[in-house]
Amino acid sequence: MSPIADISAQNEASVVPNGKHVEKPSSSFTPLLHRTPWVPPVAVTGEGVHLILEDGTRIIDAVGGAAVNCIGSGHPKVIQAVKDQLDKLLSNQPSEKLAARLISSSDGAFSQCVFVSGGSEAMEAAIKLAKQYFWEVDQPQRKYFIARHQSYHGNTLGALALSHHPFRRAPYEDILNHKAFHYVSPAYYKRYARAGESEEQYVARLVQELEDKFQELGPENVIGFAAEPVVGATQGVTYAPKGYFAAMSAVCRKYGALLILDEVMCGMGRMGTSMHAWQGPNSYTDGVSPDIQAVAKGLGGGYGSIGAILLNERVAGGLQQGSKYLQHGHTYQAHPLAMAASLAVQDVIEEENLLEKAGRVGTVLQQQLEQSLTGPNALSAPYIFDIRGGGCFWGIEFQFPEEVEEKWFSKQRFGGLVQAAAMENGAVIIGMSGGIDGKKGDFIILAPAYNISDEEITEVVTKVTKSIEDVLKRTV
Ligand code: PLP
Repeated sequence: MSPIADISAQNEASVVPNGKHVEKPSSSFTPLLHRTPWVPPVAVTGEGVHLILEDGTRIIDAVGGAAVNCIGSGHPKVIQAVKDQLDKLLSNQPSEKLAARLISSSDGAFSQCVFVSGGSEAMEAAIKLAKQYFWEVDQPQRKYFIARHQSYHGNTLGALALSHHPFRRAPYEDILNHKAFHYVSPAYYKRYARAGESEEQYVARLVQELEDKFQELGPENVIGFAAEPVVGATQGVTYAPKGYFAAMSAVCRKYGALLILDEVMCGMGRMGTSMHAWQGPNSYTDGVSPDIQAVAKGLGGGYGSIGAILLNERVAGGLQQGSKYLQHGHTYQAHPLAMAASLAVQDVIEEENLLEKAGRVGTVLQQQLEQSLTGPNALSAPYIFDIRGGGCFWGIEFQFPEEVEEKWFSKQRFGGLVQAAAMENGAVIIGMSGGIDGKKGDFIILAPAYNISDEEITEVVTKVTKSIEDVLKRTV
């Protein structure tokens, strides 16, 4: 994984409302170099949360290649595990151990797992598995998925059709499956609640919307409802009010449909304290575990190309009673090198107590961000809409008066400008332009490794604050 290149892909969300890219490729555009018009600086190596560029410059990686890298670069234990695995390449020992590890991390929620090669493929496999499950249990009429607006579940055709990310869908809209995939509102209270609406009323309205969608499609025809417990790429780390997932999953249960959670970005310890975002006292889903879950980024921590789907007993049992075989196989799935790397990453998380550490990072990061960005003398204070997150996953959303938006940020968007300024100041972050709804709500995402030190957190906050202020001084 190239952390810097991965971020460039995320920032392709620099959009105008018609879904087209704002920036034209510059004259230095070199199509052979990579997949994006933005040619990133080249990192030659990494040490913990720092990346070292070709000219020796050290920059701090505050986002871990889009929330992938969870233990920093160059961890000796993982490097050794991959070297050892090379000597016995085709052994499937690590995949068996890793599967057992994942199942046992789930407090009994899951009984099987299937490895794939990344997040998009995990969601693609989750879609196929959900459909196949109903085929196995003699309900082949079920053919509809319900997902949410402003969601991102991956870039393959199935996962993209499930997603509602207008910019990423735009070029492919004609070939996406419009029959099978349907959408309801996202659960983002602070931006989308009606005036005077309480959290309870807001949740009740969204639950009614899901109920109505089931009725519209015919409840007996719905395969499942898919959602990210914590929404990353499209909303900058937002989560639903309490009670939402309990009520949404109850609707699914009432009609025999499945709950599919996409924890590709927010799972595997990213939210701190527990392995899964739905788990533990800080559950983001009211403690509700899914029928099928996708994980990826933090599973391999960037050391291996890997994703997985986790199946509960209902789904696993359905498959076992039927054909016993998930019709989803790719040549490189469960590649031994990726498995060995991921197993070692998970060992490091356990041995170095990094779930707890990630929880503590969240507390320190939040305190420092709030003080630095919204404190009494903070230049940025009037423009901060929200600072939210948990563990090692944080979003900062901006807002500007209409006339300021119009004057300064109608073409060159704020999120992208802050990302570029951060790179100049020696920090890698994600800045999402055209933010939440294609017009406003630009945000930045921070997702450092779980073992970032307090000094390094301060370095991140100082550089992020300076970058926001640099852009504000040049514009507003
Ligand atoms: N699902 C979610 C929630 C994601 O955030 C992403 C990527 O950002 C994906 C799926 C796709 O994962 P990948 O980029 O590994 O294919």
